[in-house]
Amino acid sequence: MNPFSYARPSSVEEAIGQFRPDSRYIAGGTNLLDLMKENVTRPSQLIDITQLPLADIEETADGGLRIGALVSNADLAWHPLVEARYPLLSQAILAGASPQLRNMATTGGNLLQRTRCYYFYDSTTPCNKREPGTGCSARDGLNRIHAILGHSDACIAVHPSDMCVAMAALEAVVHVQGQRGERRIPMADFHRLPGHTPEQDNTLVDGELITAVELPPQDFSAHSSYLKLRDRASYAFALVSVAAALEMDGDSIRSARIAMGGVAHKPWRKAEAEAALVGRTADEAAFTTAADILLEGASGFEHNAFKIELGRRAIVRALTDAARGAAQ
Ligand SMILES: Cc1cc2nc3c(=O)[nH]c(=O)nc-3n(C[C@H](O)[C@H](O)[C@H](O)COP(=O)(O)OP(=O)(O)OC[C@H]3O[C@@H](n4cnc5c(N)ncnc54)[C@H](O)[C@@H]3O)c2cc1C
Ligand code: SF4
Repeated sequence: MNPFSYARPSSVEEAIGQFRPDSRYIAGGTNLLDLMKENVTRPSQLIDITQLPLADIEETADGGLRIGALVSNADLAWHPLVEARYPLLSQAILAGASPQLRNMATTGGNLLQRTRCYYFYDSTTPCNKREPGTGCSARDGLNRIHAILGHSDACIAVHPSDMCVAMAALEAVVHVQGQRGERRIPMADFHRLPGHTPEQDNTLVDGELITAVELPPQDFSAHSSYLKLRDRASYAFALVSVAAALEMDGDSIRSARIAMGGVAHKPWRKAEAEAALVGRTADEAAFTTAADILLEGASGFEHNAFKIELGRRAIVRALTDAARGAAQ
């Protein structure tokens, strides 16, 4: 690990004011410290944000929830209002990491965790995300966990978060504050596809601090499901995951949301797949149609082409589970 200086501000303004181009905010540290130990990230200054007043979950005036950036993944998953109104989010968070990690990991840090591509962590190999212009070792290397949608010649990595997949389906809005003021970024616009600049995971500008995530009021609590498929039963990242949420009118679907994880550089959603379910009877035929639309254009590599069929079946199963009842 390289030497770095350390600051512990007590206000958001102070934290933003202390940020330099090679600084990093540190929250739970469960991702950042690993990246520093592997020499993937070499900040000259760590700004410890754990003393900032960003650890509350509050109801908003319109009946939604505002989640502070420092709320731990454990506190978020087990919060009574989240369990009652957004069981999909609780289920997704509890499908990720281990209890110990969830106690440390924060909402803001989870949004910004970096890919688990093996080559990204191995600084002896070429990787455009770690060192732009060096090449992508995964395209012709081990690519079992990599993308089947939205990838580019430069990078085929996936975003690893479970929480973000549920938040994408729930149309969360990320609140950020920086030297140029405050912004609200819809989840759909927060993470980016790799294109020619895979080193940029998201649309934040240097020094912007995530202060909160807002969940709009919704009526999906009775019919939602998060399905995570992975190589072992616990403590592993998703090969494919699906967040499915339905509003039902008897057997008929009034509205639908579907987001996939483990398949692209960002949670994968497509309005056409959701629109195709509206007004349909909740059955396998309707769910298969939605799956086909969501996976349109999918293409795999030597070791991960299996994700296309796995993804199709996972979408159908998650929607079937959602139609039957709420996430547990
Ligand atoms: C063994 C292991 C297994 C895991 N399994 C899973 C899993 O199955 N599913 C899953 O979703 N995750 C999993 N994780 C990832 C874990 O959820 C993330 O490491 C965690 O959410 C990151 O949160 P943190 O608060 O520790 O972030 P940190 O490590 O502190 O920070 C991560 C990044 O976010 C930045 N940052 C943090 N907070 C803010 C903020 N408020 N504003 C701006 N920038 C900020 C930091 O500068 C850094 O770049 C796993 C991690 C490990 C180590
Ligand atoms: S897939 Fe992306 S992160 Fe992985 S080696 Fe290629 S460029 Fe690097």
